[in-house]
Amino acid sequence: MHHFSYRDGSLFAEDVDLREVADAVGTPVYVYSSATIERHYRLFSAAVKAAAPTAKAHVFYAMKANGNLGVLKTLAALGAGADTVSEGEIRKALAAGFPPDRIVFSGVGKSESELRYAVEQGIYQVNIETEGELDLLSRVASALGKRQEAVFRVNPDIGAGGHAKITTGSSENKFGVSFEEVGRLYTRAANMPGVRMMGLALHIGSQIRETESYEAAYAKMVALVGDLRAEGHRVERLDLGGGLGIPYDIPKDFDHGPDLIEAYAAMVGRVTKGLDVELGFEPGRLIVGNAGILMTRVLHLNPRPTKQFLVVDAAMNDLVRPAMYEAYHEIWPVSEPEAGAPEIAYDVVGPICESGDTFTTGRLLPTLRPGDLIAFMTAGAYGASMSSTYNQRLLVPEVLVKGADYAVTRPRQSYEDLLGTDRAPPWLA
Ligand SMILES: *Cc1c(COP(=O)(O)O)cnc(C)c1O
Repeated sequence: MHHFSYRDGSLFAEDVDLREVADAVGTPVYVYSSATIERHYRLFSAAVKAAAPTAKAHVFYAMKANGNLGVLKTLAALGAGADTVSEGEIRKALAAGFPPDRIVFSGVGKSESELRYAVEQGIYQVNIETEGELDLLSRVASALGKRQEAVFRVNPDIGAGGHAKITTGSSENKFGVSFEEVGRLYTRAANMPGVRMMGLALHIGSQIRETESYEAAYAKMVALVGDLRAEGHRVERLDLGGGLGIPYDIPKDFDHGPDLIEAYAAMVGRVTKGLDVELGFEPGRLIVGNAGILMTRVLHLNPRPTKQFLVVDAAMNDLVRPAMYEAYHEIWPVSEPEAGAPEIAYDVVGPICESGDTFTTGRLLPTLRPGDLIAFMTAGAYGASMSSTYNQRLLVPEVLVKGADYAVTRPRQSYEDLLGTDRAPPWLA
């Protein structure tokens, strides 16, 4: 469920009229609901904490889903940790108030300077993905006189997810050390001065809407924990990754209960029962996906003999999911359509000069005119965080709503910022 609904004929985010935001901030604009973020975080962390009563459960929000400072501060204030994948994300997590001992550093290709920065900050855990990274981390940390706590990210050879581009757990994917290698690496790590191995991690994919693939992968991990312990290794932590999916095709009056979260948590409780490990979770999309929309204005209509194009002021550089993953987003007009109003099939497209800049084709919507506002729903995850300045378009502003208040938590980029970052080569200056 989320906190976007019609009131007096207009779409509201909590108690804020979106027409007011469009007037004040302009379009396109991302708008996030604090109440939705808080609700999803609380639901998820309560469920996993209840399902694993003997183990400690830690929730690390995967901030690549949405790294807006207002969103991060909202989650840090609730006691969430952060799952990061770059030095930039670690820096931003620290700036948002996440304590270092609640920060996890994941990612396939961490550089020496990134690892050094992470160790210097005293972060909670590095999730190691390759043998080379193990060597590098130990060298970097011991040079600093430190021993960094770490886990091995294991590739369980079970992939899942809504699209091939977001499946990560198959042995065909680039992620993690293979199952057969973990024992040998654990033994090597035991003699290294700069690392202290604490356990294992996995992350099998994104937008996963069932629990079976998780259960199969987690069961393999539990067996691996037993094998490693039998060889005398210390396994105290099991980081179960993120990836739980959300409904994108939501009828306006449908209340999605916490069913999938509860089924997931119950499964985790069942599979890890009696294991005596601390559990880690890295949800991203689940926390912020439904909590955001991208509001855009209709620029032009372009009627064709066979179809009607609706050209809007947002484009694939602002929200790339449809172009990149064939992703579906509900489209709600900001002015509430009257019941029974006639509908037209639109191809909703952005201004960029390539056919991939299409948000949807043949979508039935009430009649729209230039100047009308529409909202791409469920755009809080992998929306703004994947945006770019392609076509020299300005990065879209982001607005965080709380009750009747709202704040611009990232202003629209300026043309000075956009153009001022380039440098002419001296021979052309
Ligand atoms: C992307 C990612 C996540 C979050 O995935 P969601 O589908 O947004 O929950 C968690 N852990 C790792 C290692 C990731 O790469």
